[in-house]
Amino acid sequence: MPLYTLPTISRLSLLMYLLTVASSTYATNTDNITTDKPALDNKKFAACLDNLAQTGSFASVKDIFAQYRPTQADPSVLEALNYQPEFSKEPWDYLASLVDKERVLDGMAASDHYTDVLAKIESHYGVSRYDVLGVWGVESDFGTTLGKKDVIDSLATLSCFGRRQSYFRGEYVSALKILQQGDIIKSDFKGSWAGAFGQTQFMPSTFLQLAQDFDGDNRKDLVNSQADALASTANFLKNSGYQSNQPWGYEVRLPSGTNFANNRKNKHSISYWQGLGITLSDGSPLPSTLSSAGLFLPSGKQGPAFLVGRNFDAFYAYNASENYALAIAHLSQRIEQRDTNVNFATAWPTDDPGLSRKESSEVQESLNLLGYNIGAVDGIIGDKTRQAIQKYQADIDIKADGKAGKKIHQRLMASTAKLREAAKVQAKMNAETQAVANDNSQDTTQKPSDTKSSYGLSNLVENKTLLSILIGLLIALSVAIFINRKR
Ligand code: CA
Repeated sequence: MPLYTLPTISRLSLLMYLLTVASSTYATNTDNITTDKPALDNKKFAACLDNLAQTGSFASVKDIFAQYRPTQADPSVLEALNYQPEFSKEPWDYLASLVDKERVLDGMAASDHYTDVLAKIESHYGVSRYDVLGVWGVESDFGTTLGKKDVIDSLATLSCFGRRQSYFRGEYVSALKILQQGDIIKSDFKGSWAGAFGQTQFMPSTFLQLAQDFDGDNRKDLVNSQADALASTANFLKNSGYQSNQPWGYEVRLPSGTNFANNRKNKHSISYWQGLGITLSDGSPLPSTLSSAGLFLPSGKQGPAFLVGRNFDAFYAYNASENYALAIAHLSQRIEQRDTNVNFATAWPTDDPGLSRKESSEVQESLNLLGYNIGAVDGIIGDKTRQAIQKYQADIDIKADGKAGKKIHQRLMASTAKLREAAKVQAKMNAETQAVANDNSQDTTQKPSDTKSSYGLSNLVENKTLLSILIGLLIALSVAIFINRKR
């Protein structure tokens, strides 16, 4: 769909999506950076910024533009803009890394920790706390990965180089307005290479439309305030057609022998779907908790099937991807049910399911141990890891498709079992050596004070000796004088 036919929010979200699909692995993972950064002409950059300063939309942010005007373009953001993933991701691969056991556990902990503010947000916006948690977990791993790129430098670069410059100029002006308003301070203004920032990764223009100050300090601080960030997400969902007190949908079982089309937009009443013989995945009748629902078949006729309602569409609006919306829906439900089993009732149509972040880390560690150097282990499978898998597959004479799934994980774990054991022993020895070294250095660091006190003591002892000698000499002198006088 052309971007300009979409309403503003979803258009921005689609762009956010297009950009963050690359950045979600890219921003946090140098793994994907396989080429040298192209040098950018900083004279051209300066001329472009001079030109921008003259345009109407920058007039309202003239001073702040000048204050934070970068002198150098950042070539890495342009490289990210042009990044085309070499390996396509199946829905099960995509879901496996975003909804794993660890993220469900972290979500349950966040739900407990922020229970008061989540309850307030739920009653104020009419958005389920679990749906807010689902977005938070997928967008920033509950506030732990916010992105490290300077938003102003990134947007200035993207305003002057590469594709979609006019879009990024709009975001640049919005970002400067945010600084001007004092909502975000410059040193906190970091995010993805495309300018999405904060705990729920808003683009600056989305921030200006929808960000909330929920903790009442007169700043919409989506970087440091969980209350502000989570309320902003609830506000976003509410503005995207979220329906209170409705589930996003549910996994269903389709009757055999009937052909169903994948079209979540083709919505019908629940009784319509009941009439077609669809039940919940455990065979029980469909509940009438959804006003209307469409059928979503992420992997076609085979694999899990879902009936999804308006709230699923609201998740979709956040990032314009059905698999993304399913990740939020799935995470939200597992957190609510406090269920760390992340499998759907119907298995994906594959004999090689996707990897959790823990398993991805194990694949990377194993490749490193076998000498396929993939660099830092971060649990995010990018092109570099897939290329290393391809090389490994070719070396052991199996199909070299670079696929990072359960099969290659098992194979790598088996072939590196001894190496990993040895690495563990080595790590333990290193830790012990380090501990001994620390003890020794503590001894050394304690020495000055020990030495000082022993100095003090020995000084005293020495002084006493000196005093005794002096007294002795005085007595001897007095005796000598006394004897002399007697003579
Ligand atoms: Ca605030």
